[in-house]
Amino acid sequence: MEFSLLVETFEQMEQTSSRLALTDYLVNLFKKTPANLLDKMTYLIQGKLYPDYEGVEMGLAERMALRAIANSSGKNLSEVEAIYQQTGDIGDAAGKAMVNKGQETLFSEPMTVERVYSTFDRIARTTGSGSQDTKLRYVSSLLNDASPREGRYIMKFVMGSLRLGIADYTVLDALAIAFTGDKQNREALENAYNVSSDLGTVARLLAEKGLEAIKSMQITLFKPIRPMLAERVVNAAEALERMEGKAAVEYKLDGERVQIHLSKDRVELFSRRLEKITDHYPDVAKASHSLKARETILEGEVVAINSQTGEYLPFQELMHRRRKHGVSEAVENYPVVVNLFDVLYLDGKSRTDLSYEDRRKLLLKVIKSGTNQIFNIVPQTVAGKESDIERFMAAAIESGCEGVMVKHLSSAYRAGARGYAWVKLKREYQSDLADTLDLVIVGALHGRGRRVGKYGAMLLASYDHKQDMFRSVSKVGTGFTDEHLDQFYKELEKHIIHQRHARVDTGMEMDVWFEPAMVIEVIASEITLSPSHTAAMDSIRPGFGLALRFPKFTGKVRDDKQPEDATDTEELVAMYKRQLKVHPETKTKEDS
Ligand code: ATP
Repeated sequence: MEFSLLVETFEQMEQTSSRLALTDYLVNLFKKTPANLLDKMTYLIQGKLYPDYEGVEMGLAERMALRAIANSSGKNLSEVEAIYQQTGDIGDAAGKAMVNKGQETLFSEPMTVERVYSTFDRIARTTGSGSQDTKLRYVSSLLNDASPREGRYIMKFVMGSLRLGIADYTVLDALAIAFTGDKQNREALENAYNVSSDLGTVARLLAEKGLEAIKSMQITLFKPIRPMLAERVVNAAEALERMEGKAAVEYKLDGERVQIHLSKDRVELFSRRLEKITDHYPDVAKASHSLKARETILEGEVVAINSQTGEYLPFQELMHRRRKHGVSEAVENYPVVVNLFDVLYLDGKSRTDLSYEDRRKLLLKVIKSGTNQIFNIVPQTVAGKESDIERFMAAAIESGCEGVMVKHLSSAYRAGARGYAWVKLKREYQSDLADTLDLVIVGALHGRGRRVGKYGAMLLASYDHKQDMFRSVSKVGTGFTDEHLDQFYKELEKHIIHQRHARVDTGMEMDVWFEPAMVIEVIASEITLSPSHTAAMDSIRPGFGLALRFPKFTGKVRDDKQPEDATDTEELVAMYKRQLKVHPETKTKEDS
């Protein structure tokens, strides 16, 4: 398949400001793609070569990229650097620098998607000493035969600056339309995606074997499963009401969710975002082999502990484990334990259809005979009264937890779903309106005065999962230290785009726009109605969306969350309504 077809689609996507058009372009592209290339095509349009959990990166240094452009454009390095200074993006620089390069030679190979993908793959797989030179040769081999438009996207891809922001859900919609003619089939595709986390495999299977094959897709060891998620409740009474009177209550530990995949000779750990984090926790990986299971997939929360007292420490302590070098010292200095709370697969069989109670029994067996210092089963009780929950919650908070998780005793494990089979009850929900929200940064205003050269305020959006859109809910400018502001300025640079992203909806004007990528936690004093923010537009009152009053950054960057994991607009509506119950004076102010 000609690479120029993909380039054309990239260009269309980059220019559109309509979410529907994005899907249409994708549908057309998928229809033109040969079935046996669909997996690779699916990865490419998301700027990847493999599913995220493989953790494959190109790893080409910036100076090498500039040299590759110089080699193939016939310009010298300083000219290319000057163009890069101007454009701020290596892909754009390549496109510009290559404009007057000589025609392709008689011997040049055709630019096909297959060729481009396999060269990218070689670049990513080249490691070790001298690898930068080899990578440079591979990139040059492509650029030599590429047109400036092709060169632009080749370099954007290689340097990770494609920034099309095509979410998984957009791809699922497009696949359903392209291969079944019916968007409703997205649900079956989503289920298959939830148990495999691999959109490429889902796409190719659909094109080659059809919808029935998709419906029978099963959990596979070492392919992470998308986690089951919880709704919030305000108090024990609401929790019990949701659970039909009786429920399991577990500690909600403040750590990092981990999914452990274990076989006789291999173990891998995946984060909540399904990235491989085995290297951060070699101690956990090693200890997994003493668990009583031949093959299993388990879920738990890794928590940092004080090695002297055994007390739980806050989530931030785990940051010390995220490093490439000095891991063994970090293991020594920042010990962790894992509190297991679920088993999804055991000895050749998926266990997700079993009830919570049955899974818990299996989990006890897996841990029991394999006692070691790292693994525990999460503290749990079965409660039938509000006071049981409250007492257990007080104990949880005393030992450093955020609150409790309340789980329906007969519920199956629903991969990728947020629902009321699991609910979370945190201390902060009970006190007042001071709820925290996880929101996506989609735009920013330049700073003034002390903040010149940084961002003065950032535009935040919540996620509307029904429409796969990010709708603005607030600007935030407080709660940031100078270090935060520097860090954000640097971090967000990677995500700058030249216009509002097609999946972002807001009535606000911004100086800078970002592809939806970075999620931060904010706290607000109240949720109010707003004519200019578009989150949950019209759901409370026609013409009004929901907005935050006195929002403040809590200091937590939720890099364990993808933008689609941000607080949903439906959650915002629920929070607004709950606030009216607890503080009816808000109603008189807003709704009178
Ligand atoms: P939060 O922002 O509260 O961490 P979340 O969006 O990551 O939420 P939820 O399902 O809403 O996920 O809340 C549950 C989270 O709490 C899990 O992702 C997990 O990391 C953590 N957790 C701690 N203890 C438990 C437990 N016993 N059972 C399930 N999840 C737990």
